[in-house]
Amino acid sequence: AESWQNVPLAPPDSIFQLTAAYKADTFEKKVNLGVGAYRDDDGKPWVLPVVKKAEARLLSSPNLDHEYLPITGLPEYTSAAAKLILGADSPAIAEGRVTSVQTISGTGANHLGALFASRFYSFNGPKQVFLSNPTWANHFAIFKNVGVEPLTYPYYDPKTIGLDYEGFVGSLTTAAPKSIFLLHACAHNPTGVDPTKEQWNKIADVMLEKGHYAFFDCAYQGFASGNLDNDAWAVREFVKRGVPMLVCQSFAKNAGLYGERVGALHVIAPTKEASDRVKSQLSVLQRSEISNPPTYGARIVSIILNEPEMFTEWKRDIETMAGRIIEMRKQLFHLLTVELKTPGNWDHIINQIGMFSFTGISPEQSKALVDKAHVYLTANGRISMAGLNTKNVRYFAENLDKVVR
Ligand code: PLP
Repeated sequence: AESWQNVPLAPPDSIFQLTAAYKADTFEKKVNLGVGAYRDDDGKPWVLPVVKKAEARLLSSPNLDHEYLPITGLPEYTSAAAKLILGADSPAIAEGRVTSVQTISGTGANHLGALFASRFYSFNGPKQVFLSNPTWANHFAIFKNVGVEPLTYPYYDPKTIGLDYEGFVGSLTTAAPKSIFLLHACAHNPTGVDPTKEQWNKIADVMLEKGHYAFFDCAYQGFASGNLDNDAWAVREFVKRGVPMLVCQSFAKNAGLYGERVGALHVIAPTKEASDRVKSQLSVLQRSEISNPPTYGARIVSIILNEPEMFTEWKRDIETMAGRIIEMRKQLFHLLTVELKTPGNWDHIINQIGMFSFTGISPEQSKALVDKAHVYLTANGRISMAGLNTKNVRYFAENLDKVVR
């Protein structure tokens, strides 16, 4: 009988391992800055008030059943989700050039997009994708799983703790024509560093010149600026300028629906006719992978997106989350620069965007924070700003100060 003797033991996922270590720690002042999930000022998960309302509405509806959804998902969800990211007045949507498929959150959207590219993209040579260095670690595994080799392009410059713009554009320029570049739409994970509008424009210029394909991953719409439209700016600009592209969308963070796995893949095609062909093939792929996506989260998001009052309330909830994170950046910055006079420049704490901040500290300093101060963060020095609150920010600042001195 098969004993699986040849199966090598894989290492545990580092983020989820960090969370387990945090949970096991009994120290009173422990702080979890590892996982990318929003926490309120008491360090607790936050169910958005608008989500509670939508849930109540959903469960009271008399005709609720548990039938299968169409293969590509709940139509009123996918069409509203497309408008959310591409704009309600998007000409691409009006022209029937957008194929939207409901996916298993953002991870599933990345997977389906990668699988579709692996099968149908006219690669100019070997199947490869360019990922930002660094990026969400899962991107590597997702593309490898479908036979697309991940390469990296320069993105983060440790010297400036900012964007390596020259390196990025250099890579776009020297890559073979028609290369696929994965771009974080906003609130780059893990660095919190986004290109400016001028830089995005230049990136679009080069991508158009070279015929590159933009594989956008948008996991944090609303978390960067607190405004859904602002955070969709780059995606909409690229559609407007005709850069060939797709977008992976997640409602895990901006609706706090992490475990419900609500996402979508939107592929923008040059014509409606091409879009119909794309949709037919995405349906075939989806059928063999999950048959039909799950109903619950999609129904909730559909209510929120399609009812004007709910939508308005959701935008307030997003402002609450983004506002608290921005406030924590200010408090941390103030503590380090004014109160503690911590050596070094900390401007990046307030300049970086979204849920994460790349502190710029070394792996040794990160380890010292975990071992000596019970502050849990990844070895690359990334902290989730959502893990900070008015009660623990001073404790964190004091210990960060200690390890860098
Ligand atoms: N893409 C990026 C850059 C992320 O940071 C995440 C989550 O951390 C995801 C995609 C996917 O998340 P989910 O599958 O929970 O929507």
